Amino acid sequence: MTEIFRIIPITSVQESSAAQARALEEREAVQDYAGQGCGQFVVDALQRPLRDLRISVTDRCNLRCTYCMPREAFDKDHAFLQRADLLSFEEIERLAKLFIQLGVQKIRLTGGEPLLRRGIERIIESLARLNTREGKPVEVALTTNAVLLSQKAQSLKDAGLARITASLDGLSDETFRRMSDSDVSVKTVLDGIAAAQRVGLAPVKVNMVVKRGVNDHEIIPMAGHFRNSGVVLRFIEFMDVGCTNGWRMDDVVPAREIVEQINSHYPIRQVDPNYTGEVAERWHYADGSGEVGVIASVTQAFCHECTRARLSTDGKFYTCLFASGGTDLRGPVRLGMTDQVLTNLIAGHWGRRNDRYSQLRHAVTEAPGEKSREKIEMSYIGG
Ligand code: SAM
Ligand code: SF4
Ligand code: SF4
Repeated sequence: MTEIFRIIPITSVQESSAAQARALEEREAVQDYAGQGCGQFVVDALQRPLRDLRISVTDRCNLRCTYCMPREAFDKDHAFLQRADLLSFEEIERLAKLFIQLGVQKIRLTGGEPLLRRGIERIIESLARLNTREGKPVEVALTTNAVLLSQKAQSLKDAGLARITASLDGLSDETFRRMSDSDVSVKTVLDGIAAAQRVGLAPVKVNMVVKRGVNDHEIIPMAGHFRNSGVVLRFIEFMDVGCTNGWRMDDVVPAREIVEQINSHYPIRQVDPNYTGEVAERWHYADGSGEVGVIASVTQAFCHECTRARLSTDGKFYTCLFASGGTDLRGPVRLGMTDQVLTNLIAGHWGRRNDRYSQLRHAVTEAPGEKSREKIEMSYIGG
């Protein structure tokens, strides 16, 4: 087996034995995988399995949401990736197969705006043909701003896409313009959502990022609009991803407050998650008019259940949305490394994973030097 472990410097007897214990755990995590043929799945340093893979297929976007790609930072001088930097569909498929062998069951295509990637249907088609290690089809989903969804919904469905999540931060053009910094109309997005429902990409989920004082007045209109529609609306707390969105805790509307607001207009009751590790808290309208969710990434961190890996547009493997760095997989792929070497690389990186940024957020954001720590932008790493 290729050696993939860190060399741990000996600093003190105590530290060194702790480090050795950690190294042993990591080694076991990987050997569990490498030695088994088809036995164990890989787990990280906090015993979390690898279950979900988010693949960013482009770092470009046709909107400039202020919380994600603020125009000042993502202007015409921004150095977007060049075509040759992007993982090709063949490279994505090969890496996805290796991730699946390590336990991945769901793949989500994202970005940037994934519908901008030419021929996106081709990669959906090949990923949708893959099976998990238990022999079930891998679930392939996609997150989109829905600007191009009206024209793409049918071909995405035909390619084998299982589920779709659209993003929409308000119902009035004025609010939407403020959030997305674009002239796209809300109608365009709503038409896209309707097209997805029509072709059977159901249930469509809609994500709304809530920013205090900017679009929180749209919580109730959005809930009212999507009740009885079959769409599951999910409110997301504004997060401090990347380094450009000027995040402040004061701008976050806590999920608890959102739930209380909705409940006072439309009574709701909490229901169980669909599966362990589901990030959205689920609520049903008491009158049977559908479901809403809240994703409390800031105020109720769910790191302890986080089973997500991310593959950036240029093939770096990240183990946390708030990471500063990742492991390059594109280089080894293009150098002709074998599947076994690549698998060991992935398993080793996951085995060392101890990320729990959201649980530590307070301590981290207030730590000296945090302001200067580079965090990867969401459009590149995949939201
Ligand atoms: N362009 C697609 C879209 O907007 O749906 C896919 C990529 S986008 C990065 C994925 C999701 O991340 C979207 O639902 C978006 O609203 C969410 N998102 C982006 N920046 C965020 C932030 N700072 N806090 C919370 N959610 C964010
Ligand atoms: Fe683009 Fe999605 Fe980011 Fe908005 S949230 S800028 S649509 S990638
Ligand atoms: Fe997962 Fe990192 Fe988010 Fe925690 S902060 S839930 S580890 S991506």
